[in-house]
Amino acid sequence: MGIDTRYMERALQLAEEAAEEGETPVGAVIVRRADGLIAGEGRNRRELLRNALAHAEIEAVDKACRTLGGWRLPGCDMYVSLEPCPMCAGAAVNARIDRIIFGAYDSKSGFCGSAADISKIGGIYRPGIIGGVMERESGIIIKEFFGNLRRKRLENNMGESGNIKLVEAVSDDQLRRVAAIAVDIWTEYWTERLPCGQAEYMIEKFCTYEAQKEYIKNEGYSYYFIKRDGDDVGYTAVKPDGERLFLSKLYLYKDERGKKYASAAMAQIKEIARSKGLTAVWLTVNKHNDNTIAAYKAMGFEIIDEGVADIGNGYVMDDFYMEIKV
Ligand SMILES: [Zn+2]
Repeated sequence: MGIDTRYMERALQLAEEAAEEGETPVGAVIVRRADGLIAGEGRNRRELLRNALAHAEIEAVDKACRTLGGWRLPGCDMYVSLEPCPMCAGAAVNARIDRIIFGAYDSKSGFCGSAADISKIGGIYRPGIIGGVMERESGIIIKEFFGNLRRKRLENNMGESGNIKLVEAVSDDQLRRVAAIAVDIWTEYWTERLPCGQAEYMIEKFCTYEAQKEYIKNEGYSYYFIKRDGDDVGYTAVKPDGERLFLSKLYLYKDERGKKYASAAMAQIKEIARSKGLTAVWLTVNKHNDNTIAAYKAMGFEIIDEGVADIGNGYVMDDFYMEIKV
């Protein structure tokens, strides 16, 4: 008995509709073979309905049972654009569907021959299975959908962090502003994370306008605002150190963290290193600062060494040294 590609075309149409709604594109049609009646149709609506059961085939079976007035759907075929998952293959069996006719294979969770074959396991009822019908067309819809999704995600990420700019603080005015940002952020960030008194000591030593002036003069530091659309969201400080660029500070205001600004800033820090003919960016990070370590690792940094830095006054920093080639 042949198959009718018209029904698969309809299933693909439903899959396209799902894709347009942002759902993984799957469409299903249940047809009574004797008279060509479309007893039920469905498309994936998992996201819209926030429901794990809202697969195309389940919707089609549900409608077909209502149309034909019973839980058995004998003499009916299910056309579906993608190989059914365990749940949907199971639903087809429970509805006594004659044949499952599907388009693209799903190597991960397809239960009609790929990951497993429902027609070969258990039960007394075994539907006929025909796979790969209009496989190319079905595959294209899925590939396009996931391709677009990736592109959109990429664009969103770019959109969120694409306006991040580093602006070097040069004038006294600018340096005072960077210092104020530094004091604000360090007070918020370090006071609760370090032993009593250490944050205040470090702010005095590293963040004040006077301290920064000294670092610029004596050690060759440069300070940069991290700006989003012209607004200050944080700051960073770097200095050439042999063949590498030492990243001393990269701090964002609390509300601006977790938005990929740091990695956008890092891309520009790497650019600064390259423009100075340097080969890597390196930094130190407190060994207990798990989140920051993980964030730098995600940006491609590797731990290359460790050490204890005596920052005076009886305080030490127990650090990992991390590096990324540029
Ligand atoms: Zn399913």
